[in-house]
Amino acid sequence: MSDFATQIIHWHHQHGRHHLPWQGADAYRVWLSEIMLQQTQVATVIPYYQRFVDRFPNLSDIAQASEEEVLEHWSGLGYYSRGRNLHRAAQQIMQQHGGIFPNLYSDILALPGIGRSTAAAISAFAFQQRHAILDGNVKRVLARFCAIEGYPGDKKIEAKLWQQADRLLPQNEIKTYTQGLMDLGALICTRRKPQCVRCPVQKNCAAYQQQRVASLPTPRQRKTLPEKSSAMILLISDNQILLEKRAGSGIWGGLWSFPEIQGCFPEIEQSQHVDAYCTRHLGLESKQSYVSLPMFTHSFTHFKLHITPLLLHLPGKPKQMSELGKLWINLEDALGAAIPTPVRKILKSVQMLRQE
Ligand code: SF4
Repeated sequence: MSDFATQIIHWHHQHGRHHLPWQGADAYRVWLSEIMLQQTQVATVIPYYQRFVDRFPNLSDIAQASEEEVLEHWSGLGYYSRGRNLHRAAQQIMQQHGGIFPNLYSDILALPGIGRSTAAAISAFAFQQRHAILDGNVKRVLARFCAIEGYPGDKKIEAKLWQQADRLLPQNEIKTYTQGLMDLGALICTRRKPQCVRCPVQKNCAAYQQQRVASLPTPRQRKTLPEKSSAMILLISDNQILLEKRAGSGIWGGLWSFPEIQGCFPEIEQSQHVDAYCTRHLGLESKQSYVSLPMFTHSFTHFKLHITPLLLHLPGKPKQMSELGKLWINLEDALGAAIPTPVRKILKSVQMLRQE
């Protein structure tokens, strides 16, 4: 076994995390946790995970639920394609594997939403199989330990990191090693202020020896993110607000949001534009008076969205707004629906306004 693996395993026995709720659980729960942990930290994941397994104790419960309900339980965790893929994967497992989570690496890899590293982590934790992981934390550890320059998201650099991940893999104790490597990245070899003095692999760490820890891994060359604007129309009648279901793919696919006008308009044109939109798409009479709530910005990985919420109280509910894909819902209940984070934020500010 490489020194690296031995040291990681030894360190994990003494200092690693041993009480995460999915540790030692069945393959279904391991899979669920690994999907939730993609792009999300452990502390954030734990309450979502617990709520999820309370509602969906078995894989078949997810497969039988509607996508809507799965997304409701995902609401707030972000990267919603993970929730949609989870639902699709559960159905695929029911159809192709008789409802039993597959134990072959190639079958796991073939499920929606599972890449090479996630398949390896599930194989290691659920089936003690030997495959290398390379998630964001592990990329950082290996880029430093092996002093690999270049942005780890670049294909060539990623290929070098995979080579190292495979090379360092031990023959035995794969579960402990995999968890140890994850824990080292999360607790010791952190992005900012890594604790090299407490690190079990410090002696052989190239970045540490060469005093290059602060400059590795090489950061991505920052491009300025494109910016977009949209107006979200908040229609309120009695104590209910109108939500619209978004198309199944794309940003916030399958979630509930507000009627939205995309584009960037000067303020005066915006009111005309909003008026025309509401007349055409929502069947409202023209010249409504909207209240603009403060504009805020939501950042996605590839663009920034400036959102202006426009509030309008209606005396009644026009017929056009009871179509399929549109939902009048009590303000309090709306917070429990499958909604993205900015919609949640707007709903809370509307609630506060009404309490004032
Ligand atoms: S010595 Fe420092 S940089 Fe090297 S692996 Fe350990 S924590 Fe990371």
